[in-house]
Order: sequence, then C-alpha cells, then structure tokens
Amino acid sequence: MSHDAIESFWREERRYPPPPAFAAQANVRDPAVYDEAARDPEAFWAAEARGLEWMTPFTRGLEWDPPFARWFSDGRLNATVSCLDRHVAAGRGGKVAYVWEGEPGDVRVLTYRELLAEVCRCAHALRRLGVAKGDRVTLYMGQVPEAVVAMLACARLGAAHSVVFGGFSPDALRERIRDSQSRVVVTCDGGWRRGQVVPLKANVDAALAGETPVERVLVVRRVGDAAGAVLEPGRDVWWHEALQGAPEAFPPEPMASEDLLFLLYTSGTTGKPKGIVHSTAGYLVGVASTFRWVFDAKPEDVYWCTADVGWVTGHSYVVYGPLANGATSLLYEGAPDWPRRDRFWDLVARHRATILYTAPTAIRTFMRWGEALPAAHDLSSLRLLGSVGEPINPEAWVWYHRHIGGGRCPVVDTWWQTETGAIVIAPLPGLTECRPGSAARPLPGYAAEVVDEEGRPAAAGAGGFLVLTRPWPSMLRGIHGDPERYRTTYWARFPGKYFAGDGCRRDADGHYWLLGRVDDIMLVAGHNISTMEVESALVDHPEVAESAVVGRTDAVKGQAIAAFVTLKGGVEPTPERAEALRRHVAHKLGAIARPDAVYFTAELPKTRSGKIMRRLLRDIAEGRALGDTTTLADPAVVRELRERYEHA
Ligand code: ATP
Ligand code: MG
Repeated sequence: MSHDAIESFWREERRYPPPPAFAAQANVRDPAVYDEAARDPEAFWAAEARGLEWMTPFTRGLEWDPPFARWFSDGRLNATVSCLDRHVAAGRGGKVAYVWEGEPGDVRVLTYRELLAEVCRCAHALRRLGVAKGDRVTLYMGQVPEAVVAMLACARLGAAHSVVFGGFSPDALRERIRDSQSRVVVTCDGGWRRGQVVPLKANVDAALAGETPVERVLVVRRVGDAAGAVLEPGRDVWWHEALQGAPEAFPPEPMASEDLLFLLYTSGTTGKPKGIVHSTAGYLVGVASTFRWVFDAKPEDVYWCTADVGWVTGHSYVVYGPLANGATSLLYEGAPDWPRRDRFWDLVARHRATILYTAPTAIRTFMRWGEALPAAHDLSSLRLLGSVGEPINPEAWVWYHRHIGGGRCPVVDTWWQTETGAIVIAPLPGLTECRPGSAARPLPGYAAEVVDEEGRPAAAGAGGFLVLTRPWPSMLRGIHGDPERYRTTYWARFPGKYFAGDGCRRDADGHYWLLGRVDDIMLVAGHNISTMEVESALVDHPEVAESAVVGRTDAVKGQAIAAFVTLKGGVEPTPERAEALRRHVAHKLGAIARPDAVYFTAELPKTRSGKIMRRLLRDIAEGRALGDTTTLADPAVVRELRERYEHA
C-alpha cells in the first residue's frame, strides 16, 4: 500500500460510529468507579457482563466453592457473537478489525464483516474435518490473520483452541498436543521471520511422527513454494481448498458460561508449562472490560498490541478484548529488526497508530539500538503506551515515555498472568497517576494485597507476596488434567487467597511495585533484595544494555549476587568494567546489593515470549543440572554461558 492509499484508507475508516454500549461506558472516567466497584464487586462485574451479547441472560453472579469459582453460570452465549456478529448487526460491518502487515511488506485488511464470513467458512471446514463441540484443536501458526480466524472458528462451533506459539520445537508441540488431546491441528506451510522461512508445517510433521491423537491437519498457504511443505494425503488439507465454497454463515453454538473457551500453556519461566483452563463468559467479560478501561479506545484509535497470538497477551489483547469492543488493530507478522531496526516505527508512522502495547524486553532492545531510529519517524499519532510481561525498570519506562511517546503519552504498566486471563493491576490513564516502574493499583473489581511469610498484610513499603483476595470473572478455572497442581500452585501457600508467585511492594499511597517472581528474590545476609532492583541499577549504567541477576548459595551470606550483563554495542567486556559495575550498583542501592560476580554475555537466555529465564542462570551459577529448557528461544545461549561460567 502506498503512503497516500493508507492515509485515505484511514480517513475513510474514521466515519464509523463507536459501538453504542462502548460509547456510553467509555466516557465514564470517574475516579469514583474504584470505590463503587469495591463496595459491590459482584454488581460491578454483572454490569460489565451485561455489555456482552447473551443468548440466555444470566441471573447468577459468582458461585464460590474455594478454590473453584463459577461466574454467570446459568447464562448462555457464544464468544464470537460479542466479537463479530453484533458489530455487523449494528451497521459497523465495514469497520476494519485488522490491518495486517506481513514481514515482506504485503498488507491485508479485514473488516468486521469479512472477518465474520471467514470465521464461518473456517468453522464449516473444521466441522468437515471432524471437529465437534467440546473438542480441543491445536493451532501452531505464525502471526497471520488466519490464526485469529481459526481461534474464533473453534469458538464458533464450541471447540476449544490450544494455541502453541509458532517458535516452539516439534517436541514442545507434541507434548502440548498430547496434553490437550487434540485430534486436529491447524498450521501454516511456513512463516516469515527475519527474511527466513520458519518451517511450521515441517515442525508439525516432526511432532506427529511421534505418538499423538491427531487425525487431520489444516494448512494455510502463507509462504508458498519456498516453504517446501508436503501434504500427507488423507491427513493434511490446504486451508484454501477446505474453505472453498463453504457458506459465509455458521450458526453460533450456544455455550454455557463455564464451558471451556481455550487452553493455553504458560511460558515455563518457573518450570514445566501449565495448561491453563479458561471459561467462555468469565474470560470474555474480563478481557472486554479491562480492554475498555485500560486503553479507553475511541473509534478513531488504531491500536497495536505487538504480542504474538501464541501468548496470553495475544489472546486477550490482540483477539478477544479489542474485538469485543469493536476496535481496529494492527497485526504484524515479523521481526522488529526486519528489514531494518526501525520496522516498528515505520509501522506506527505509516498506519498512524495511536496506542502501542509491547513488552519491556522489546523496549530495552530498542534502547540498545538508540533513539535516533524512532526519532527519524513521525510518531506523533501515539497517545497511549502500554507495557506487559516483566517488571519494567524505571529507566526503560522513562525512555519509552520520552523517545516513543514524545513525553506526552501515559505509559500504562499492566500486571497480569496467563492465569488471570486479563489485566489486574494497571493505571487508568487520565484517572490514576503513572509512576515509572509501578503498575499503579488493582483495576476496579479486583482485590489484591501484599502479605508477609505468614500471610499478614505487609507494612507499607515492605516487600512481600502478591495475592488476590477475591475471585474475578476471568480467573483460570484450573490446570488441564491436574486439579491437584491447581490447588497446590495457587491456593495452598496462603489459604483462601490466590498466590500469584510474584513479589511486590505497596507504597504508602497504595501503588504496587512488582519485584519479579518470588523465586527471584534473594536473601543476602538477612536482607531481601529483588533481582529486579539490582538489574534496574545495572541497566541505569550507560554502558549496560541488559542484565539478569540471580542469587547463588554463599556459605557466609546465605546468598550472593551474581549478575549476567550484556553491554551496549562497541563496549568491551573487561575486568575493570566488571569492577566499575559492582561499584555502580553499590552506589545506587547500597553496599549490601553489590554483586559478587559480574559475568559478561552477548545474549541472555530468554523464553520465546522474551522473558529472562533466571532459573536457568541460577542453575548455571550453582553448577546444577539444567531444568526444563524447552521454552528457550535459543538453547545455545545457555550452553555457551554454562561452558564459560560453570566453574567460575
Ligand atoms: P510460568 O508460569 O510457566 O513460569 P510465566 O509466568 O512467564 O510462565 P505468563 O503467565 O505469561 O507466564 O507470565 C506472567 C508473569 O509475568 C507474571 O506472574 C509476572 O511474573 C510477569 N509479569 C507480567 N506482566 C508484568 C508486569 N507488568 N510487571 C511485572 N511482572 C509482570
Ligand atoms: Mg507464571
């Protein structure tokens, strides 16, 4: 698309009025909402739930049999009706749901009407492949519109999707297919990443070479001949052939509120991934409501969440949340550094994106690449920035605010998990003060606390454990196939309270400061030190690009601090630099936080979702056998570190 074509396309696009329910609610930006919701959270959530389209209206709110919650259980609905049909019925079928850009630069636009038609055609195809209500379907795809279509097509016919991120290995895919007992897999011949073809179909073939329940595979032709995909007769079928001639209408299957909408495996930062179970109504209420509150999207907004649909952020804030609100999203297939390191800024500028929601790991990478790249583009369309995935260090927050947001966009740091389904702690832009490094406070309808070892409320300013003290609609309903693990992981540590696994501090004004995973909090000579604070101090040094800090056993101090550091381009790793960094941390945080060792490394081990895997660094620092590495983006990084530092 030429620049002019895009300009006039967006001009045209802004004619569509907002969804009526949305328009009425979105303008309520009254701080009283916090207190009102706190007075009667169930009434608050019931009102939010009425913003969805119901086939049978619910009369029940919360049913709580700890630790099992049900919400709106006597209602019936189909998630796709709230996401698609109602917008088309209200005359907004011509509004754009997605502008998709492929990595090579190809563009596709899908209006709500077109998306609904595609979803219906795909639902017919899946049904012909034998998918029935109550089944699970595994999706292993790139970031293409068909991934969204396939998710919604499952929901349309009452099957649950289990999306497996397209960067995972065949072994990781097979494990998840088996765990979910999927008989159908949807994939692509390949995907584009940094100009290379990701061999998605070949990976599916390798996964299915082992024992699995899979009978049929539906294959999107994304790349073409370069992918070299071979279809196995009788098992595999091309998407375009299967959808050919399928009707553009498919009656939405009436689902009970508590019916399974999807399974999604966590990223595996703390151990073996968990198959998180999400219900239909509660989940949709949670994401529809939080999307509206946090992003306050107006009809003219062009919203871009950069997450892959393979993660929960993609499920909640690329697919269900924005669609339930009738929003217009950008969707991008490829890498941020392709063909150049300014691809994101080029996308923002050309499409006049107004809201950008991305991860701290991406922001720190952009910092490392320098501010000249965003400065060369017109980013003046942006009005709101979001962050999710890890604690955002204040240095990165300020950089994001200044160099991407031009100093005028609020930065909303959003804390939540695959398990919570939707954002739990975040500022409401315009209502809640944003402080660099703090996720502000629980959104209306949620109740959180910071507690000490014994489960008593921690003093203001003191670190502790983050717990949620009241059930919420989009909370996980369990871990697939393992109810015992559900209890012990989330509900056993502090009885009656949901334990998030994260450390947190609440300041005197009630702002929450996330400190990373509890496993990542170090006890050094009797002091609790969060890895996040030491990392933040390191990244504050002008020569440091990124760092990961772990505690390792120390005979004298209990734990000693080991820091793995990536330097900025052109900076040489020398023993003098290591010493200077140790001094720098001591100067910023006090002598107690001075790292015992600083290890330089070109890359840090990260999960495919971009989170640093500190547990593997701990294994290295302690000289232990490595834990589960299946979710690592690049296993070579750990091998290399291990060879260099095992005996350090
Ligand atoms: P696993 O549970 O398998 O170890 P994971 O926790 O990385 O994987 P997710 O559910 O994707 O999988 O991530 C949720 C976690 O990410 C949170 O518990 C928290 O540690 C971190 N997180 C997400 N957003 C934020 C944020 N805004 N601030 C701080 N931490 C965050
Ligand atoms: Mg987790």
